[in-house]
Amino acid sequence: MSDVDVPESHPRYESLLLRHRIEEGVEAGITSKQGLIAQGRGEAYDYLLGERTIPSADAAERAAAAHLLRADHPVLSVNGNVAALAPEETVELAAATGAALEVNLFNRTEARMERIADHLREHGAEEVLGLAADGRIPGLDHERAKVDADGIGSADVVLVPLEDGDRAEALAEMDTTEIVIDLNPLSRSARTATVPVVDNLIRALPNMTEHARSLAGADEAELDAVVEAFDREAALEAAEAAIRSPEE
Ligand code: ATP
Repeated sequence: MSDVDVPESHPRYESLLLRHRIEEGVEAGITSKQGLIAQGRGEAYDYLLGERTIPSADAAERAAAAHLLRADHPVLSVNGNVAALAPEETVELAAATGAALEVNLFNRTEARMERIADHLREHGAEEVLGLAADGRIPGLDHERAKVDADGIGSADVVLVPLEDGDRAEALAEMDTTEIVIDLNPLSRSARTATVPVVDNLIRALPNMTEHARSLAGADEAELDAVVEAFDREAALEAAEAAIRSPEE
C-alpha cells in the first residue's frame, strides 16, 4: 500500500496514483480546480491509448530531445498539473537539455506562481522563471499573455505540456519551435505543435530525458537528422489510429 490507500496490485493503480497527486496539488494550492478536469480528459485518452508510449510518441520524444539540445535558448513551461504530477522529472529534463524552467499558468495568480516555483526548487530546480512577467505573447489577453522576457519571451524552443489550445496557437505564431505534450491527438495544442507528443506527461518526460542523455554526444548534423526524420502528420495519424485500433 502507498499513501493513496490503493493496493499496488489494483489494475488502475498508476492512474489512481496520478489522480491522487493532482488532488494533493489542488489541496496545496499548486493546481487549479480546472486542472482536475484536464486530468480527467487525459485519463480517458490514456486509457484509449493503452496507457503506453506508442512508437510514434517515442519518435516524437526523441525529436523533442534533439530540438531542445540544439536550441540556443530552450525553455520548459510548467503549469499546475505538471508541477503536481512530475516536478522531479521536469527538473531532470531541464538539467539534461540545458533548458530553463518557467512557470506559466492559464489562471495566473501570484500566490500560485510562487508556490509552484517553491515546489520546483524543493525538487532540485535552481532558477525558476515566470515571476518577472516582463514579456508578452502577442494575440492573447493581458493575464494569459504574461511571460518572462528572458524566458519564453525570447526562447527559440519551448516545451509546453498540457497547454490550452489558445496559448499553444499564439506561441506557434511567434518565432518559436513548439513541443506539446498532450494525450489528445485532436486537440488544437497537438495540432499546432512542431512536435506533438501524444503520450502521458509522466512517461514522456523521463523518456525525453533518456533520449537527451543518449544524444548528448551527438554533433549538430546528427541532431538535425533526428529532427528532420520526425514527421508530425504521421505521428498524429498514428496516435489516432492507435486509439481506434488499440491492438495494433
Ligand atoms: P484544446 O487544445 O483542444 O483547446 P483544451 O484547451 O480544451 O484543448 P484542456 O481542457 O486544457 O485542453 O485539457 C488539457 C489537455 O491536456 C487535454 O487534451 C488532456 O488530454 C491533456 N492531458 C491531461 N493530463 C495529461 C497528462 N498527464 N499527460 C498528457 N496530456 C494530458
